Amino acid sequence: MAALPYIVGNWKMNGTRAMLNEARAIDRAAARFPKVQVAVAPPATLLYRTRDAVELIGVGGQDCHHKESGAFTGDISAPMLKDAGADFTLVGHSERREYHSESDADVKAKAEAALSAGLAVILCVGETESQRDAGDAEAVVGSQLEGSCPRTDGAVDKLSIAYEPVWAIGTGRVPSVEDVAAMHASIRARLVAIYGDAGADLRILYGGSVKAENAGELLAIPDVGGALVGGASLTAESFLAIVGAA
Ligand code: PGA
Repeated sequence: MAALPYIVGNWKMNGTRAMLNEARAIDRAAARFPKVQVAVAPPATLLYRTRDAVELIGVGGQDCHHKESGAFTGDISAPMLKDAGADFTLVGHSERREYHSESDADVKAKAEAALSAGLAVILCVGETESQRDAGDAEAVVGSQLEGSCPRTDGAVDKLSIAYEPVWAIGTGRVPSVEDVAAMHASIRARLVAIYGDAGADLRILYGGSVKAENAGELLAIPDVGGALVGGASLTAESFLAIVGAA
């Protein structure tokens, strides 16, 4: 049975308590879309409150530390996210890779920590514009997957991949349907190489300037199992328009 399309809002470093109204509105409306799985990743400061404010939708973190606890000022561990009510966490977002110098090995360790804490994981990969222009996009993403996919016994069914071309994030630009289809097929092949049969069922989301106007077309591409949405997830109205298109 095909999994439901998975539409995840990544609020990034946006939102104070007033944003809980958006979460509530998204949650209420989610009842109208039983064929779509909906989730949001608020900033960590809102995780508890978002969990309390919603009933139907998933709630997740945006990052986690690879250790369970300790002297890591400012960091948050996977068991802490779980305790705060998270169902999942993002790891390896390109903004973490770029601004916090996270390597594939770091991302892998985080993904493994999250899975062992009982969280589902959305692992992000994607090439830069110059890598795409050089014709290296699939090789770059393949090597990110090779280096950052968790290698745990079991629990791999709780892993999703988000393909997010760096040049498409927050820019209003999206790759062509053909390029997304080719990349998702290449990611699928890599997941099967890594995980065997289990890799055939993992969800692969697309992210990068997803909006109501392009969501239908993107989500109809084979092997696009959902969307990771940044800017357009910040109001219930724009996010729900994407959920509706799914
Ligand atoms: P965007 O961000 O939808 O604003 O392009 C997507 C993301 O970074 O997850």
